[in-house]
Amino acid sequence: MKKIILSIIIFLNLLHSAEVQELPWPKGMSFLTFLEKYSIPQKLYFDLEKEDKELCSEIVADKRFFLYTEDNGDFNQVLIPVSEDIQIHMYKDSDGTVKFQTLPINYQEYTEAIAIPITVSVSHDIQKATGDVTLAIQLKSLFKGVVDFRKMQKGDFIALKYTKKSLLGRPHGLPELSAAMVEIAGKEYYRIKNSKDDKYYDEKGKGFSKTFFFKIPLTYKRISSKFTKKRWHPVLKRYRAHLGTDFAAPRGRKIYAAGDGRVEFKGRRGGYGNTIIINHQNGYKTLYAHQNGFRKGLKRGARVKKGQHIGYVGSTGLSSGPHLHLGLYKNGKAVDPLKVIRRPKTSGLAGKHKATFLANSKSIIKTFENEMKSENRTQATKLDRLTYKSEVKKL
Ligand SMILES: [Zn+2]
Repeated sequence: MKKIILSIIIFLNLLHSAEVQELPWPKGMSFLTFLEKYSIPQKLYFDLEKEDKELCSEIVADKRFFLYTEDNGDFNQVLIPVSEDIQIHMYKDSDGTVKFQTLPINYQEYTEAIAIPITVSVSHDIQKATGDVTLAIQLKSLFKGVVDFRKMQKGDFIALKYTKKSLLGRPHGLPELSAAMVEIAGKEYYRIKNSKDDKYYDEKGKGFSKTFFFKIPLTYKRISSKFTKKRWHPVLKRYRAHLGTDFAAPRGRKIYAAGDGRVEFKGRRGGYGNTIIINHQNGYKTLYAHQNGFRKGLKRGARVKKGQHIGYVGSTGLSSGPHLHLGLYKNGKAVDPLKVIRRPKTSGLAGKHKATFLANSKSIIKTFENEMKSENRTQATKLDRLTYKSEVKKL
């Protein structure tokens, strides 16, 4: 507890200190080259646990990080975000050695509802009302094949309920759409997210099948490490994260593409070793790390089909034994691969889950109706009070 409080206090000091810099992570800089640049012994990295080493490979170019240097330019401490929830904190301890820990990111989260009358176009009107263009993209993908947005006219309506995050007064990550309504020529269409399974249904609890499915990309012995966005480790007494699923399998075992897509990256990627990233449709990407080698002839930019052979299980990068680390990213955000891959085909809700969903959907529809009647409806209404999402665990 003391250390966490201490680092938060340090962080607050950082914000008011002249020596603190907010910088974009340089392109081509790896965690190891960062250590080298600030004369931090590489032992720090090699002594890390496997999951923390993998986290260091999640640092992406241009991500803003905070660096605090002493008057003589020496390293003092740094905060590097690796996801929306977790950041790496390295600091010089009183004995002069540099310590590593992972800390939660204390962003604020709030939910808004808004009704938008169509004036120009869906994208234009949503961006004007919410300041965010990605909501229109999410909306269009939700109603793909159901609503022809080009046919929307003046007098039609869109209503949205979404959750936004902010950090230090700035947007943090992308907003998440929890419900949407499209009214076109007097007919209403709904998509409401069910919090139990993170899937969208219509207002009657009827599911609609998505055409896009993933498969597990190899035959494996066991799952050696599960996905954790942010977990308090009671023994280590600190936060940990693992932004993917590890499948233990013998070296040389074939790895297959989890879905149709295009090879966006093929090469070495820090602690992830030989890595392939496939860009799928609908904002999804998959990452295959620690490979022994790639399939001969597989080129960057190549189109691959679901189930197509792409590489071999290995232990390259920093890895304790042969395994495949599979990452799945939705709109740039790491999500649990198993939750998405094992998702059953959608049919509909039943029983208790259906009753809960219907009650929730009723209240959302009421909210949307109120928004549409409201005088200043193009102003988003804050539904929830501001809440701090990340809490500091007590020891
Ligand atoms: Zn892993």
